[in-house]
Amino acid sequence: MSRVYNFSAGPAALPEPVLRKAAAEMLDWCGSGQSVMEMSHRGPDYMSIHAQAQQDLRDLLNIPDSYKILFLQGGGTTQFEMVPINLLRGKGKADYVITGEWSKRAAQEARAFCQVNVVADSANAKGQHTFVPKQSDWKLKKDAAYVHVCTNETLGGVEYHWTPDTGKVPLVADMSSHILSKQIDVSKYGLIYAGAQKNIGPAGLVLVIVREDLIGHAVPTPPPMFNYKVHADHDSMLNTPPTYSIYMAGLVFQWLKQQGGVAEMEKRNIQKANLLYDALDRLPFYSTKVNKGDRSRMNVPFTLPDARLDEAFLAGAKERGMVQLKGHRLIGGMRASIYNAMPLSGVETLVAYLNEFAQKNG
Ligand code: PMP
Repeated sequence: MSRVYNFSAGPAALPEPVLRKAAAEMLDWCGSGQSVMEMSHRGPDYMSIHAQAQQDLRDLLNIPDSYKILFLQGGGTTQFEMVPINLLRGKGKADYVITGEWSKRAAQEARAFCQVNVVADSANAKGQHTFVPKQSDWKLKKDAAYVHVCTNETLGGVEYHWTPDTGKVPLVADMSSHILSKQIDVSKYGLIYAGAQKNIGPAGLVLVIVREDLIGHAVPTPPPMFNYKVHADHDSMLNTPPTYSIYMAGLVFQWLKQQGGVAEMEKRNIQKANLLYDALDRLPFYSTKVNKGDRSRMNVPFTLPDARLDEAFLAGAKERGMVQLKGHRLIGGMRASIYNAMPLSGVETLVAYLNEFAQKNG
């Protein structure tokens, strides 16, 4: 068996030890005589998996007791709607900071529910986003229900390396593509959400971490599946949860703890990102667009000098065991996603290939 280095933005590579453990437990989870996929979500075996995953996530991110952890479905996209439905709390407006495609989409969806104030937008004349606007340039409104940011833009590769201070107005963050990649202070946020399929586990699960006092004030009569309070009251089991995705996420949380937790991941991620960006900066053959201070450690977009070389670059990468380096169709070029599960050796292999390809074609 030979596994590839998978640079996909999501669904993305998972840690190999996690996949091996899942494989070993596939037919018989801990002597239960059944796969986790076959278990009733109301039975004690699954309930213990569910509770352990929640506790491990709480430990990993130091989530205070005053925050609820919800395991929901519908992806990050459904959160674009659930956030305004639940957090407007009678206020008619919310602030959005636009740093790329995902924050733009979140703002667009919120327009169905409230007045959206775009307090900063980093788009240039071509509609590209290459930096995070400084908070001193944000035009925040004191009476906004919340401030929404996307702290890592998966397409453009723009990441916040600082935490906005929005005072009494709750800060809401889409962390889909960098949650658990670095230490964060959860208490600075009103709500954090993240689709699982990048840095956590398989698709089908979205995490919501929400300060308890912010829930229970949804717009009148929201459908129960769109109400955080209902999900919190049912411990994320209002209906059948995505049990296998939660189990896999739980295995990833255990793996993270064994590796030394989020602090250790942050160290490794800095090392991997520096290695890759240093090569891209050193070799004039490649270009990057994002301001150095706002570069994502998870998603690294870059371009070759001529798009006609793209196919050859991707074919050569595949021959060397590296896949999914093609950039998003909206941005073009290449993108290497190097989440927690990408080993240093994967980035080293890519850097060696970057050198080789530039030498041959430069
Ligand atoms: N937010 C971000 C930052 C994303 O990268 C994505 C997916 N690429 C989404 C939201 C949407 O997630 P989903 O496809 O799970 O709805």
